[in-house]
Amino acid sequence: MDLRFSPAENAFREEMRRFFTTEVPAAIRKKVAEGRHLDKAEIVAAHKTLHKKGYAVPHWPKQWGGADWTPVEHYIYTEELQFNCVPPPLAFNVSMCGPVIIAFGTEAQKQRFLPRMAALDDWWCQGFSEPGAGSDLAGLSTTAVKKGDHYIVNGQKTWTTLAQHADWIFCLCRTDPSAKKQLGISFILIDMRSPGIIVRPIVTMDGGREVNEVFFDDVKVPVENLVGQEHRGWDCAKFLLGNERTGIARVGYSKQRIQRIKELAARVRAGDRPLIEDDRFREKIAAVEVELKALEMTQMRVLAEDRRRTNNMPNPKSSILKIKGSEIQQATSELLLEIAGPLALAYRPEPDDPAFDSNEALSDSDWAAPAAPGYFNYRKVSIYGGSNEIQRNIIAKAVLGF
Ligand SMILES: Cc1cc2nc3c(=O)[nH]c(=O)nc-3n(C[C@H](O)[C@H](O)[C@H](O)COP(=O)(O)OP(=O)(O)OC[C@H]3O[C@@H](n4cnc5c(N)ncnc54)[C@H](O)[C@@H]3O)c2cc1C
Repeated sequence: MDLRFSPAENAFREEMRRFFTTEVPAAIRKKVAEGRHLDKAEIVAAHKTLHKKGYAVPHWPKQWGGADWTPVEHYIYTEELQFNCVPPPLAFNVSMCGPVIIAFGTEAQKQRFLPRMAALDDWWCQGFSEPGAGSDLAGLSTTAVKKGDHYIVNGQKTWTTLAQHADWIFCLCRTDPSAKKQLGISFILIDMRSPGIIVRPIVTMDGGREVNEVFFDDVKVPVENLVGQEHRGWDCAKFLLGNERTGIARVGYSKQRIQRIKELAARVRAGDRPLIEDDRFREKIAAVEVELKALEMTQMRVLAEDRRRTNNMPNPKSSILKIKGSEIQQATSELLLEIAGPLALAYRPEPDDPAFDSNEALSDSDWAAPAAPGYFNYRKVSIYGGSNEIQRNIIAKAVLGF
């Protein structure tokens, strides 16, 4: 196994770095670096900058705007994107629904949805989880009953990320209640402007508005919005969930966080010297860095293995990357909280929050404002994309063979 990059791959990295640091608006990258929330306009602006250059959907087939890169080039792109604090292209469009339509959709669906999805002209959200169906997703109970040329959809989805911005939702609905759990489900595209849809926010413990409940009350959906075969939506769901786990290690992102931790620890004092000079704190940073290096190496090994794989099925070893990656992201959020110390205690609205009612210049401790919300928000990374306990089950079955 050769883990070195070729000269061409190094040149590719340079080009990615140049593009991300010169073309993506600096104000947006700064907000990401500081752990602040982006609004819809900022996410769309960053996505469109990538799209113009063909970097929003590089993993799609060339015909639909893909870049025809090697797996190593994809890896370098992702790492540089994360390290340089570029908001990733909207995952619901580019990594979830788009690939499902490419793999299972009709030609008419591809023509209608893919170009707008790639450009983020339409914002999509994911309607899978329900109050009684998360890890046990196949237990979902939202129904779609066929009446002539429409489905009538009734039920509730939950934890629907950024549904408040969405134009469309891709949903798993039960179309055959008499069939075995996985067999009676269909993958259906629903226009969020349809009468009968209500979106209610779930305010998270960091005070953020990121997730929602979505209610469907007799929502009429044209039958042409069914993707793949009726009752076989579970095939689409398995395909989508496999894609969701890849790239979830977020190595580039954690590298950037550690760099920020070191910068801030050099600014903050612990007694008579900067915190970065405290041996105990240095040990904590080193422990996370060692774990991150090991994760990076593991990711490279999975990548090298993927180069030799002939099928397109997701590699079950990506579950290892998901667990370790999420643990490291949480560890960095804990270190940032520790650096902020008492400054993280008081609630301080972010400068672009309407509650931030002040014309005063930002004080030197404003960097600490996102530390506590960030810490609380990052509890999510071991839950979404399949909880870490579920990933351990996958490793036990598909990697260790128990
Ligand atoms: C921030 C955030 C954003 C999300 N965004 C979306 C979204 O946009 N769209 C969407 O559809 N969903 C979304 N989700 C939902 C997410 O996919 C689910 O939360 C996740 O699948 C877990 O389901 P649950 O919350 O119902 O927990 P449960 O499935 O009820 O699990 C509760 C606990 O039991 C454990 N557990 C469950 N089953 C097993 C088992 N067999 N073995 C061992 N342990 C088990 C779990 O690991 C967990 O600790 C989001 C979640 C979060 C936190």
